[in-house]
Amino acid sequence: MSVVHHPDDETLAAFSAGALDLGQRIAVATHLTACAHCRDWVRAMERVGGALLAEAAPAALASDALDRTLARLDEPTPAVAARARTAKDLPSGLPRFVESYRFGGWRWVAPRVSLRPIVLPEASATRVFLLKAPAGVGLLRHDHTGPEMTCVLTGAFRHEGGRYGPGDFDFGDDTVNHEPRVEEGEDCVCLVAMQGDLRWSGWLGRLAQPFLRL
Ligand SMILES: [Zn+2]
Repeated sequence: MSVVHHPDDETLAAFSAGALDLGQRIAVATHLTACAHCRDWVRAMERVGGALLAEAAPAALASDALDRTLARLDEPTPAVAARARTAKDLPSGLPRFVESYRFGGWRWVAPRVSLRPIVLPEASATRVFLLKAPAGVGLLRHDHTGPEMTCVLTGAFRHEGGRYGPGDFDFGDDTVNHEPRVEEGEDCVCLVAMQGDLRWSGWLGRLAQPFLRL
């Protein structure tokens, strides 16, 4: 898997510092399971943070949060994990730690585009869901009222920012207005962590807005 698009340094630093809410942590950790480059970056940040903590309060040293998180993720054996994945009808690129959450059912949110909510065990300002669109489908041009983190699990899409394949991380906010299109050949499933709403643009989007709720 060759990852091209990464979270920016501020997002990784916020993850390292534990400053993201649960929904955003899940999106960044999903990228980290696919990206050795960002894992190294986060580990380096944790070492710096650990050194600072060690100076301030040796007892509070906790520089291995990422390793502990990833170790926890690997608890089920591969066979058990595969059975659980099949039973829950989950996409192949989903990290194991996400599989432990409860999932709602798939529902249509736009023609040929469906969404499956992930039920978080604690209150979070960020909603997390799987978004699935078949090969070759274009989403209506839209913008965001809040930050949106997208991590590709299977397939690929393109928009003005480039091509996003498995492991790639896309950040959108209220300055971004784009029109993604899924590549031919494979359905695209993404894990999305989103605050606020999507606003669909153009006359068709405005017409369809009441029906296209994310
Ligand atoms: Zn990365």
